[in-house]
Amino acid sequence: MAASLVFRLHDRGPELVREVLLERGWEEYDEEHQAEEDWNLYWRGSAFCNSEYHNLLPWQRLNHHPKTVGITRKDCLARNLRRMRATSGSSLYDFSPTAFILPNDYTRFLAEYNRLHLARGPAVYWICKPVDLSRGRGIFIFENIKDLVYDCSVIVQRYISKPLLISGYKFDLRIYVCVRSFHPLTVYIHQEGLVRFSTEKYNLSSLHNLYAHLTNTSINKFGPFYKTEKERVGQGCKWTMSKFRHFLHSQDITELLLWQRINNIVTLTLLTIAPSVPSCPNCVELFGFDILVDVNFKPWLLEVNYSPALTLDCQADITVKKRLINDLIDLMNYTLSDSLRERAYQRQVCRQPCFHANHRSRVSIPGLSKVNESKYQKRRIGRQSSQTRMLPLLRTPRQPEKMNHKESRQRALATDYQRHLPPVNLNKIYAARGRIINTTATKTHTNKTLNLILGPHSRTNVSDVNRQTIPALAPWVMDNRSLHVSEVTNHDDTETEAEMELSGETDVSSSIHDIPQWGLGFGRSAESWRLPHIHSGSHRPVQIPLEGNTALNGQNVPPLRVGDFIRTFPFNAATLRASQHQLDVKIILQELHKLTSQLAAPGKKMRREEEVKKDVLNVEQDFDSLLWGPKDPPLLSQCFRPA
Ligand code: ADP
Repeated sequence: MAASLVFRLHDRGPELVREVLLERGWEEYDEEHQAEEDWNLYWRGSAFCNSEYHNLLPWQRLNHHPKTVGITRKDCLARNLRRMRATSGSSLYDFSPTAFILPNDYTRFLAEYNRLHLARGPAVYWICKPVDLSRGRGIFIFENIKDLVYDCSVIVQRYISKPLLISGYKFDLRIYVCVRSFHPLTVYIHQEGLVRFSTEKYNLSSLHNLYAHLTNTSINKFGPFYKTEKERVGQGCKWTMSKFRHFLHSQDITELLLWQRINNIVTLTLLTIAPSVPSCPNCVELFGFDILVDVNFKPWLLEVNYSPALTLDCQADITVKKRLINDLIDLMNYTLSDSLRERAYQRQVCRQPCFHANHRSRVSIPGLSKVNESKYQKRRIGRQSSQTRMLPLLRTPRQPEKMNHKESRQRALATDYQRHLPPVNLNKIYAARGRIINTTATKTHTNKTLNLILGPHSRTNVSDVNRQTIPALAPWVMDNRSLHVSEVTNHDDTETEAEMELSGETDVSSSIHDIPQWGLGFGRSAESWRLPHIHSGSHRPVQIPLEGNTALNGQNVPPLRVGDFIRTFPFNAATLRASQHQLDVKIILQELHKLTSQLAAPGKKMRREEEVKKDVLNVEQDFDSLLWGPKDPPLLSQCFRPA
């Protein structure tokens, strides 16, 4: 019988992920009895260290992309958004309240404070937040600069003093965003999300009352009115997004525009870091975007959470988060079982003598260097699969030339890749990219195949490629500014209190300096819309609705939706093209601008289906998208006439 997929949780959490995966038939990784790399998904609340990205094996996936700190730490986000506002010259980047990073920006803040003060307009309020804390800790609101006191790095931000209220209560929206890939940028937003209320009525004359001004659950669940039945809001402090949609329907508002603006916020925020995130096709990440809507129905980005809380505090949490994690696993496109991982383990047993014969010409497999031999001595005895029953053979004293486990497994895995992965013609790939190849630097087929699977920053790949060619490097690849900051980010996951440790290891960026420009597109066409395929033998992929996963001019289009995840980027043929090779941010901004103005055009009504059909020949119909947000998300082509 095929072995189950295996998940590994850091620090025993989050419990919800464990529950969902066990229900889906996965097995939990057991450190005592399993080898160090014998898992399919590793989930952590905090950051992975660089070696964990480098050493990933083809069947392994991580729940974080490298280097997303640029949006998940408050000061980095403020800096990146400021940069984009300055360089894009676009009014699109007007969705985050003006922010100053103190102490550095103190003079600039003072100038702005004085300017507004002297203008004698309406009162201006500010909110001060420590850059490396989350869940409302250390936050306060002030009007007068004499109340600004801080003893660590903080951001001081314009306080949105006229938020949209529901029966007098302030709220914000927790939007769940999945970045399935940064190269090419592929983004999904979940239809369900949370609305988080403060538990006392909003009042600007009591700035110190955090239960009236902050919407963090971690604060409000300790408030005196948490359990009280509050007008319209009800008990507790959370709604589901569906309930919020009902509320919107009861108001006279241009709903489509609100949703599209939130879509824009997500895309524009991700664009600030997308070019500098190293390509790592085995990663999928869930972010929590916190959005505040003001009285004019303008959404504002407050922050991006690195590890959105997955604790179940109330019914709304249960309804939203369980489905969310199930859909996320579906997005990861796993097969029912992982025969690649399984066979890799089996083969090392069956082909032991061959490995010995080839000892000196072995191929190095990233990751296996970390194998801790003592683990094998405890190995897998209780497990049921045939491979585990055979594993003890590896330790027989008669094993020739004292080959250790690490070596035998390396060879086994290499052999397995050679036999089971599709042949890759590197010359063809190089030629297609118009590069000269030094054919004297021959490589084994194994190397090529590994490169394809492991992506451009596997060590094998980087060094081989670098030796061979490529004088010119992509500018962003060279750029590792801001990447050495402490990666303490906004994660409101209460189960992972510990902030990210700073590993003493080399930054990923420094090790991928030498990835050539074209390397980023490696394997990016066709299959690149999916995670690296786990070779599944006769097993069919589970529950992946492939509607919309069509080819457009030879390029694959990711599915419109997977469960309740709606694809929001790329959203049309132009943005698909603009994200294929080096990300063309300018084109993407133009397309977003066009889309938003079309939706905002006065008197714009949803088009009837027959009207849409008439235009079929005019639109690149292979590629339509859904508008994330409304209850039954309409196709974008239904929302407006193509330009
Ligand atoms: P944390 O990471 O500590 O949760 P946030 O930036 O999310 O920090 O802020 C916590 C809460 O404070 C938000 O949920 C929101 O209710 C409120 N808040 C934060 N920034 C602003 C702002 N600029 N204007 C109005 N309210 C804000």
